Amino acid sequence: MLFLLFALQMTSPMPLPAAEQQILLSPAPFHSVGFEWRGALPLLEVAILNADGHPGPWWPVVDAEDLSSHQLGARHLSALVHGATSDCSGLLIRSNSSSLPNSLRAIWIAVETPVAKAGSVFAPSTGASARAGASAVPPPQTAVNKPPVFSRSSWGANAASCTPSYCNTTHVALHHTASASEYASTSWSQCAANVKATQVYHMVTRGWCDIGYNYLICPHGDIFEGRGGGDNVRGAHDGYNCGSMGVSMMGYFHAPYNHTLTTAMKDSFVELAAWKCDQQNINPLGSSWYAGLGAVENNLYGHRDVSSTACPGDLAYAELPLLRTRVENRINGGGTTIILDNGAASYTGSWTTSNSAAGRYGPDYRWASTGTAQARAMWTPNIPSSGTYQVSIWWPAGSNRNPATLVGALLNSNLRTATVNQQVNGGQWNVLGSVFLPAGSTTTFGISNAGASGFVVIADALRLIKL
Ligand SMILES: [Zn+2]
Ligand SMILES: [Zn+2]
Repeated sequence: MLFLLFALQMTSPMPLPAAEQQILLSPAPFHSVGFEWRGALPLLEVAILNADGHPGPWWPVVDAEDLSSHQLGARHLSALVHGATSDCSGLLIRSNSSSLPNSLRAIWIAVETPVAKAGSVFAPSTGASARAGASAVPPPQTAVNKPPVFSRSSWGANAASCTPSYCNTTHVALHHTASASEYASTSWSQCAANVKATQVYHMVTRGWCDIGYNYLICPHGDIFEGRGGGDNVRGAHDGYNCGSMGVSMMGYFHAPYNHTLTTAMKDSFVELAAWKCDQQNINPLGSSWYAGLGAVENNLYGHRDVSSTACPGDLAYAELPLLRTRVENRINGGGTTIILDNGAASYTGSWTTSNSAAGRYGPDYRWASTGTAQARAMWTPNIPSSGTYQVSIWWPAGSNRNPATLVGALLNSNLRTATVNQQVNGGQWNVLGSVFLPAGSTTTFGISNAGASGFVVIADALRLIKL
C-alpha cells in the first residue's frame, strides 16, 4: 500500500489578522493533517479543502491526547484533523491572534482510502483459554469469544519497524484519540483511513515503530487492530504499556466537543474487554499490580489515572464504572434473558383480556381504558443475579392506543417513569433503557392507564436482558 508523508514549513511568522482566513495549499493531495509547534498556541482553527477547494467543517487545533511535558518538552503535536477523502488540497486557517508561532508546521499525511470492508475481519477466536485450567473458582465461567476485529491488512497497515515485544496482560486502558473529526466520519472506509493516518503520524512524526494503541474503536462500533504482533503485544499508549491493552475511542469526549460514546462503541468495548479479561483471568471490577507502572491500578482504568492527561475525556471517563460492570456481567452470564408475559403480571383496576390484535406476544394481552379509575399492570421478576439489565416491553399497536402510555419501574422505592406511543412500533421489543437491578424480587415494572381519556393501554410482555 502506497503512502506518502511530507512536511511543509509554513512561512513564518504567518500574518494572521484576527478573524481573517488564509489559505494554505498542500504540496500534494493529502487525507489528514497534524500540527507541530513549540510554546503556547493561540486559538487556531482549520477547515480542510477538498479536491475542488471546497472547505469542510472548522476544527480547532488541539493537543494530541497523550502528550505530556516529560515526553516532549516544549514541543507540541496536535491531534489529527481528517478530510473525508484522500485527495484534499489544502486548508483554510483562522485564528484569534494576529500572529502564530514561528515554529508552527503543518504535517500533511497522504493515505489511500481502503474500500473493501467485506472479508477483512479476523475470524473470532475462541476465548477463555486461560480459564480452562482454572479450578474451584465459582461461579462457572462462560467463555467469551474475541469479537470481530478489522485486521491491519484491512486498513492497509505499514509494517512495523521493530520486533514486537510481549507482556502478560493484566490491565485494559481506555483512551480517546482526541481527534474530533474522526467522530464525524460516516463510513467504514473513512474510519479505516483515519486509523492508517494515525499509524503514519505515530511512526513518522513521533518516530515510534508502529501505531501506539492495541485497538481502536470507531463511532460505528467497528474494532480495528492497532499495534502489530498479535495477542498480548506491548503497545505504546499510556507511557508505561507493559501489561496493559490500550483501547482508543475515536473521537473527543471532552470539552469543547463533548462527544459521547455511542452505544455501538460501548458494546464493542465491552465485548473486547470481556474477551481479554476472560482470557487473562482479569477481574474487571478489581485492581492489581500493573508491572509497567510499578503500582497497583484498577484493572480497567482510564489513561488519566496513570498520566497527566485529559484522556479519555470527561464523558468517556464517567462511563468507566458502568463499563466495568458490563464487562463483569458479560463474563459471568451476560445475555441472560427474562421474559414475562401478561399472564405473569398482577393487576389493579379494570383490565380486559383479548387475543384479537395482531402483533401480540404470546396467546393474548390485556387492555384498559384511559380516563377511568386507576388501573395498573405490574411485573415483579425474580432477578437471578444483580447487574445491569436492558428493559423492553412489547405491545400490539393500534390507532386507539394511548400515544403517551405511562410505564415505570419501582427501584429501591424510587419510581422511574417514561411514556411510550402504543399506536406504533407494535409486534416488537421496544427498549426503554438499562438499569442496575439487585438480585431477587425487589423491583416492580408497571404499565398505567393514566392519561387523557379516549384511549386504551396495552399490557402484553416485559423482557429483561442482562448486559
Ligand atoms: Zn490516552
Ligand atoms: Zn466507523
